[in-house]
Amino acid sequence: MDKREFLKGSAATAAAMMATTFPECAAFADETIPRTNWSGNYHYSTNKVFQPASISEVQDAVRSVARVRALGTRHSFNGIADSRIAQISTLKLTDVTLDPKARTATVGAGIRYGDLALILDAKGFALHNMASLPHISVGGACATATHGSGMRNGNLATAVTAIQFVAADGTVRTLSRDKDGDRFAGAVVGLGALGVVTHVTLAVQPRYDMTQIVYQNLPFSELEHHLADIMGAGYSVSIFTDWQNGRAGEVWIKRRVDQGGASTPPARFYNATLATEKLHPIPGHSAEACTDQLNIVGPWYERLPHFKMNFTPSSGQELQTEFFVPFDRGYEAIRAVETLRDSITPHLYITELRAIAADDLWMSMAYRRPSLAVHFTWKLESDAVMHVLPQIEAKLAPYGARPHWAKVFTMDTREIAPLYPRIQDFRALTQEFDSKGKFRNRYIRDHVETD
Ligand SMILES: Cc1cc2nc3c(=O)[nH]c(=O)nc-3n(C[C@H](O)[C@H](O)[C@H](O)COP(=O)(O)OP(=O)(O)OC[C@H]3O[C@@H](n4cnc5c(N)ncnc54)[C@H](O)[C@@H]3O)c2cc1C
Repeated sequence: MDKREFLKGSAATAAAMMATTFPECAAFADETIPRTNWSGNYHYSTNKVFQPASISEVQDAVRSVARVRALGTRHSFNGIADSRIAQISTLKLTDVTLDPKARTATVGAGIRYGDLALILDAKGFALHNMASLPHISVGGACATATHGSGMRNGNLATAVTAIQFVAADGTVRTLSRDKDGDRFAGAVVGLGALGVVTHVTLAVQPRYDMTQIVYQNLPFSELEHHLADIMGAGYSVSIFTDWQNGRAGEVWIKRRVDQGGASTPPARFYNATLATEKLHPIPGHSAEACTDQLNIVGPWYERLPHFKMNFTPSSGQELQTEFFVPFDRGYEAIRAVETLRDSITPHLYITELRAIAADDLWMSMAYRRPSLAVHFTWKLESDAVMHVLPQIEAKLAPYGARPHWAKVFTMDTREIAPLYPRIQDFRALTQEFDSKGKFRNRYIRDHVETD
């Protein structure tokens, strides 16, 4: 994503929009869906948003336009969801059908994880993981390989066992892991390029309770020999740092009660100290919005995310960047980024380090690679962030760092393509379902297609 795309406003394409005429369509609506992403750093290039409430309305919408992109809860930080012509919001697609025997839930792609969690938990079921906040749509999260943490936890898309989507010709297609194997693995992290996913079938498991504890001031030197042990000290572990003073300010450990997670935690952990009050990942911020800590037992959906469903984690005045490196080179990568600390820290709220298990999803950032994700929550200082990003990317290039598809980065297809062994197959798959490029946008051209 170049600076021009990053900073552009919807006015840039206003002329093109005015020249576009739209057919009557029952699902057509406008002005109710904000025209920026969640963070406000990206203005979408169209005011035309379909809001279908059924599969047939999605089909009508897809058939009625030459170009279109699916839109979930708008939590991506770049132009991945953008279209110059129209978007299809999935927010009215929120039905849930639980199959307790098969241990699956088939859900409308627009449902938010936090809403789904309440429904599942009430029926005695749970998901394997969640992202840092529960406000993200299932369809949007899976399309971009959104993840939580955990040495044995794949990203959220790894829970998908089948997808149903409307392809460019308006037909409804289904791909499942059982029946379609490899092609399914290519389609799940689809970046919105194969069609509009209407339903996602997710593997579920019996509900579980968890606790959360936080340790403070973990020296980076402990990571050199103990990174896997530290990351494996709980079901899901996050390490937070501001890159100063050679240490991680906080280590959040989320433990499952059915795996011994209610036991009293030791006061010391790799030379870090157990926190005795609830903390926010960013020092000095109120912890009110954060999920409970201090080893208090609670349901999985109120411990796996860092933030509660009924709170916004911050004002939204932030940008995010994330790079995925092979886990076994994680410590080296941390030290490489640390050399840039004086350029990074002034523009940073916080960095988070998470572990993601390897998977087989072609376009996943953890494809065939147990990964350490190095995440940056930036202040909304676009120019400064765009200045420092190439420096971070250069430092991480020797580790084959893959950028998070939905966050801010400057790498283009020439740099990204070699990092994805199945990218040619993915391009072929998009051709199969979208031969005329209905779902292609500038982002896909710049980051996925051949130069
Ligand atoms: C505060 C905050 C915290 C975050 N935390 C995490 C985190 O912990 N881990 C992480 O990995 N990421 C995280 N993210 C990033 C976020 O998970 C991704 O941006 C994700 O794609 C957001 O989903 P969405 O529904 O908002 O997608 P959108 O931004 O609406 O769309 C993203 C992409 O998905 C496609 N898409 C959406 N719905 C569909 C559909 N039904 N069919 C086909 N394509 C579709 C769009 O076309 C687009 O390409 C965070 C973002 C924010 C703002």
